[in-house]
Amino acid sequence: MLKRLLISILPVLALFAAVVGHWPSRSASAHYDASPAPDIRVLQQSHRIFFGKEILVTVKAQSDAGEIVGVTARYRPRGPDRISVYGYPSFTPGPAITATFNIKTGEGAYFPPGTDFDIYFELSDSSGNVTQTDTQTIEYLDPAYKWKRMSRRTLTAVYHNMPDDRVARLLDDASEELPHLARFTGAPADQPYKAVLFKTVSDASSSFPRVSEAATDRQFFAGFAQPEYGLFVLGAPEEGSFKHELTHMLVEAAVTSPLAAQMPAWLNEGMAVWSEGDGLASLNSRIGQAARDGRLLRIRSMGTVPATGPEIALFYPESGAFVGYLYARFGPDGLAALLRAMNEGRRVHDATRQAWDVSLDDVENDWRLSLGAAPLPTPRLTRVHASPFAQGATGTTPPAILPSPTAGPASAPVSTDLPIGTPRSAPMGTSIVSSPASSAPPVDSSGFPAWALVLAVVTTFAAALTGRWAILSRRGRGN
Ligand SMILES: [Zn+2]
Repeated sequence: MLKRLLISILPVLALFAAVVGHWPSRSASAHYDASPAPDIRVLQQSHRIFFGKEILVTVKAQSDAGEIVGVTARYRPRGPDRISVYGYPSFTPGPAITATFNIKTGEGAYFPPGTDFDIYFELSDSSGNVTQTDTQTIEYLDPAYKWKRMSRRTLTAVYHNMPDDRVARLLDDASEELPHLARFTGAPADQPYKAVLFKTVSDASSSFPRVSEAATDRQFFAGFAQPEYGLFVLGAPEEGSFKHELTHMLVEAAVTSPLAAQMPAWLNEGMAVWSEGDGLASLNSRIGQAARDGRLLRIRSMGTVPATGPEIALFYPESGAFVGYLYARFGPDGLAALLRAMNEGRRVHDATRQAWDVSLDDVENDWRLSLGAAPLPTPRLTRVHASPFAQGATGTTPPAILPSPTAGPASAPVSTDLPIGTPRSAPMGTSIVSSPASSAPPVDSSGFPAWALVLAVVTTFAAALTGRWAILSRRGRGN
């Protein structure tokens, strides 16, 4: 790991001096020996950053065996799943060439400050020699500023115009928390994370993308996490906001599978808010009035961050308070278990049953009661299939999963909160406690999925026989 870290940092450090130097009178340069193909010699590779517009990368080379006729640039912004891109620099063929290639970073090609680009060139000459330059790493930072760098464990802060001791305190605090945050999220603790820090909110926001998935974090914390580039950007950083954005990075690092279901905003933001460290009592007090007034948002409605100001103002502390409750109830590994289940492809409502053996609705209701809030105002079953076999089955289930009163007496609850066609690594359940055709179905929430699957299969089969297939299909896809 240390080696990997050094590999990632050393080239950056080497180039760093050039980035912060008296550009444009000087630019970064490196000299190369072309060992694999001595007939083509790479003389120099350098770059200039025009922040917010482009990065110009220049390579100078010479062939002793003919004319250099082909130059290809290959580059890749560093980060999980970032793909490499190739392009053709402009140059005039000849025994000695200077080729210039530009990486667009402006309109329509946004990259956050601090993005590391790896780039190399492939050169060929008229005698058939081919060579490849060393990979050069370019850290995309505005050369107008005098950037500094400080690291603790796997955290690196890149900053300017800020007191070193302020940055040191932020890093000390966050690195002390890092092992705990890694356990809390289930993310690897040894992964490098970069924070690009600006002294003021306006300094930071000038580097933000016009439209960001983390638009609301911009509004509240002057920050946004860019896990795809391994970094977050933050203005006027404080210990809380630093850990908030860092937690987004860890959550992303914990849920990497292509099978992973979409992360609901309440969970992602809730974990980030909880990690700020204000504590459950403080968060509960911020939502206490809303709880008493019956204004708490429903967890099921918090899959995305709301658009309006008052709702956003409630959404963040409520998400944090709910996650704090989950942390207290399911322990320091409880949220990591949930993320792990989601990483295996389960959607959150299914993942809670996998991780905690309880439905999210039940947990939400318990939480509401703990706050002195009324149980969920109306029973909520978002997926209800009519069943010809469950006449009159109303059950004695807890309030949160009672069948919807609007579903009529001929309905039974059937959980279809399963990603259809989504691979899963564990069976849903192993015990079947009653025949759905002969008695009311079991309503214990922990046994819910097992009989539900059986009932769904039987129902579907019977429905096909009785010609009700079309109706059921329509209902099943309605949500
Ligand atoms: Zn956030």
